[in-house]
Amino acid sequence: MSVLHDAALAAAGRGWPVFVLGRTKRPVANCADCPTTEQDPGHNREACPCLTCHGFYAATTDPDRIRAMLTAVPRGLLAIRTGAVAGLMVVDIDPDHGGAIDRDLMAPTYTVATGSGGWHLYYAHPGGSVLSRRMPGRHGIDIKADGGYVVAPPSLHPRTKRPYRTVGGRPVVEMRRALAAVVCAPPAVSPTPRVTATRPTTPGPDGRRGRISSPTALLAAHLNAVTTAAPGARRATLYGAARGVARMVAADAIDPTDAVAALTGAGRAAQQNDRDIRAAIVGGFRDEGVPT
Ligand SMILES: [Zn+2]
Ligand SMILES: [Zn+2]
Repeated sequence: MSVLHDAALAAAGRGWPVFVLGRTKRPVANCADCPTTEQDPGHNREACPCLTCHGFYAATTDPDRIRAMLTAVPRGLLAIRTGAVAGLMVVDIDPDHGGAIDRDLMAPTYTVATGSGGWHLYYAHPGGSVLSRRMPGRHGIDIKADGGYVVAPPSLHPRTKRPYRTVGGRPVVEMRRALAAVVCAPPAVSPTPRVTATRPTTPGPDGRRGRISSPTALLAAHLNAVTTAAPGARRATLYGAARGVARMVAADAIDPTDAVAALTGAGRAAQQNDRDIRAAIVGGFRDEGVPT
């Protein structure tokens, strides 16, 4: 425990909120008193006083809570919450799925060698909203930012039993502009959406059919509505956005896979769980007659 404890305090000392995962890299189950989001969407996970409930929402920099957490889950894995709250975004490179460090894009920075042979490159969060999602246009690279977390050293990878470890001794640096452009880019949309005879669009809220003049702006508006919705309106807003984005899919303005990924990322950034997100997207697409 002392090695993990020292590492947890060191991370917290950098301002990175830490929490504890179960031995399988999954969050610890909620206590009996804490409802799931399905049971009570109004339960404030961010403000919940429980020590280990609600996954990364339990993350803290408070030394007393950290000690109590490690005592409560003595064989857990240490994790760091990423995103604006931590001032961190992490590029997660998985060579087993084709990921590789791109030195033109990725400046040398604080680096963790993962227990599965990959790399975590830690960068300063640029501010604003950075979605946790696959890096656009890359295989085997994920962005861990708002609504995300990473397993931290010296945790042992549950499958390989090898430790996560820092390498290189570098400080956390800011992203190069080229990487920031990729990481902060809105999800990809077709620059020239077409409306074909075989795939007619359904009418929008204003009853019009046909060409979407600015798909990038329209998609950004839908996603922004999701990420800025009031807590009590998050699920309804995501459903509404899913219907809007489904109409864009029907107009060939966005690839359906990218559409679902974009909505999922926005839902996560708005602190919704994956089950609610999936239900809202499937429902929204179904109600627009668009397959998911
Ligand atoms: Zn709770
Ligand atoms: Zn609880």
